[in-house]
Amino acid sequence: MWTALKDFVLPLCGNCESASASYFCQPCRDRLAFKNVCPLCGQEGLAHCQSTCLSCQNETTPWDKLKISFVYRDGVIQWIRKIKDQSRPELWRVVSKEDVMEFQDRIDAVLPLPSDPLKRRKRGYGSSELLARRIAKLLNSDFIELFDRKPSFKSQRDRSLYERYAELRSEISLKPHQKIPPGKLLLVDDVMTTGASLWICAEILQAKAVELEAFVVARVPKAKPCHFS
Ligand SMILES: [Zn+2]
Ligand SMILES: [Zn+2]
Repeated sequence: MWTALKDFVLPLCGNCESASASYFCQPCRDRLAFKNVCPLCGQEGLAHCQSTCLSCQNETTPWDKLKISFVYRDGVIQWIRKIKDQSRPELWRVVSKEDVMEFQDRIDAVLPLPSDPLKRRKRGYGSSELLARRIAKLLNSDFIELFDRKPSFKSQRDRSLYERYAELRSEISLKPHQKIPPGKLLLVDDVMTTGASLWICAEILQAKAVELEAFVVARVPKAKPCHFS
């Protein structure tokens, strides 16, 4: 209750807790912004001029463009946990027009990645669906749900990217009888961990010759290699 109240009454930065008119103060927003991380695999330490790490540089992606706003660390983790675990979906308002400005006037419809139906039922809302609705509103575009997802009973932790991909590939499908709208679509996800679900949804649409871009709020960076083990 106090935490919920604090976010509204005292304008404090959600990362450093200094006075701030917005959820993150400007220095924290800059520090948490997505940079120097490979968007495809999450490897940290990219040089300013690199768009991906060396091992991902020859990857052909099933989307034309991917924008990521934040690195999933510190205050960004707390913020998204509030949304997903503490019933605070209104905190998606932190995603602003500036975050999606580059998609303005280019996107015809915004679609969420499908959330796990078990988690959706437990929370009472699908967090990526609410996020995609907000972005559709910011971009003045249509909102559409194109995917179905079967419930997943296995833990995602400690699974390889390949295992995760294979399992998700059997869980995600296009909704039957749902027409794919014409024009350019924007796939939206909240947190990208392995990237498997974004990749699968994009591949399904690519097979239908859809023009596609993607927006992700935060990407989990890959843990730095441990040199002492
Ligand atoms: Zn701050
Ligand atoms: Zn990479």
